[in-house]
Amino acid sequence: MAYAKESNAERRRDFLAAEVALATPAPGGDGELAAAACYPNGYRVGMASLGYQLAWGAFAAHRAFRAERYFACNAGKPSKGVVKDVIGLEYGTPLSQADVVAFSVYYEPDYLRVYGMLAGGGVRPWAVERGEFDPFVILGGPAVTANPEPLAPFADAVVLGDAEESLPAVLDVVAANVGVPRREVLVLIAQVPGVYVPALYRVLYGAPGSPAAVVPEEGAPAKVEASRVDDLTPYRGGSWLATPHGEFGKLLLLEPIRGCGRACSFCQTAAVSSPPRRRELSSLWPLVDEVRGKVGKVGLVGAALADYGDVVALAQGVVERGMLLSVSSLALAASRPPAVLKALGASGQRGAALAPEAATEEGRARLGKPAPPGRLEECLEVAAAAGLSKIKLYYIVGAPGEGAADAAAVGDELARLNRRFKTLTLEARVNPLVPKPRTPLAGALLVSRREFRERVRAIRARARGVRVVAGSWREAELQWNLGRGSRPISRWIARTAEKAA
Ligand code: SF4
Repeated sequence: MAYAKESNAERRRDFLAAEVALATPAPGGDGELAAAACYPNGYRVGMASLGYQLAWGAFAAHRAFRAERYFACNAGKPSKGVVKDVIGLEYGTPLSQADVVAFSVYYEPDYLRVYGMLAGGGVRPWAVERGEFDPFVILGGPAVTANPEPLAPFADAVVLGDAEESLPAVLDVVAANVGVPRREVLVLIAQVPGVYVPALYRVLYGAPGSPAAVVPEEGAPAKVEASRVDDLTPYRGGSWLATPHGEFGKLLLLEPIRGCGRACSFCQTAAVSSPPRRRELSSLWPLVDEVRGKVGKVGLVGAALADYGDVVALAQGVVERGMLLSVSSLALAASRPPAVLKALGASGQRGAALAPEAATEEGRARLGKPAPPGRLEECLEVAAAAGLSKIKLYYIVGAPGEGAADAAAVGDELARLNRRFKTLTLEARVNPLVPKPRTPLAGALLVSRREFRERVRAIRARARGVRVVAGSWREAELQWNLGRGSRPISRWIARTAEKAA
């Protein structure tokens, strides 16, 4: 590995040298306060997250702050626990010197690295132990919006929902109250709509481990609702920086639509970000035009992309500009997956991903994700005709009421499709259902490890000629336990992260 021989400082220098600014001027405040924009995973993953880049942009654009990026590692695999050497990418500043330390949290297994980066970076991880001169620790992202409690003891504030308006407002409060007692600043932060300050709320428990009520203390709003920006058009919808070292390569990440209104029973996006909000097509062209010549690819981001009314015009416009197009996985029930596949092929892209989730109507009904009959075949026909060659198909195992016959049906479906679409290389990704908080399936149990393995084996036995990749059951178990946990699970997070160090 080339990176293994390099020091952390050399790696950081290489990364900065390879980055391309996608907006002119790039945001770059040079205020007196230091803001650490942290991603609790590696540089490669963090830079591929549009949400993280937009949060960093909010810090960088604030006149009172000087923003710096921090990752759980700059190369290789990040530690599962306490992270050594947590220093800023741009200036090499130790994390402990920041005035505000903010994390974008997308994925429950990253919770351990939130603790790990704080502890390894010299910031007291437990909010209750922080004193007047310690940084304010702020969390945001879909995972903590769905359930902030597992990480609440580490946070001074949690930005719930869309951060476009609430994050700058929190920064305004911090900047305007330097030297004011910490508790008073927290009470002021708690007045920002959509911001939860855990220290100002007591959680009362009913049955062991299950929160029965969250009770506000004096000065705190009675209830905190997640922020929702109904009109996203005025806010930047594209990434600020591109790098060849990001997970999707050097590209513009573009968000035409946020959230999803389809309400599949297992889906957290539907639970925390519904109905979807769209950006006007005309507001996206300046972003695309500005990056022509700097990057050759546009990655469309959004759970409901194939429901975006202007997706075909957007895709065609990208292709006409001579750029490659990529999209996240497409739901079969969405209005326009065949049209998106056609546009992908026209752009020169060779791969795509579809999410049938189950192979029968009953199986899809159990997941609350119906699809029109024959839609999968229709999509594959279009994909083959458009010149695509590799299609990933996502399936879920472990819905309540599901049995061995459902796994057999997935295997049979894959074998049938493989026989029919000879020019396509199909790959199946099979994951356990993770019952997520605030979804209709939140109360379901995780499929047992033994059952999951049996179902995957049954799929493989029938899916002749198709590569079947199984997700990690251990990782799903971790997601399940952390996702539905409450404040006491923070002690397990801390212990486990310390042990993994
Ligand atoms: S279509 Fe996709 S994003 Fe939308 S609710 Fe269903 S699973 Fe979630």
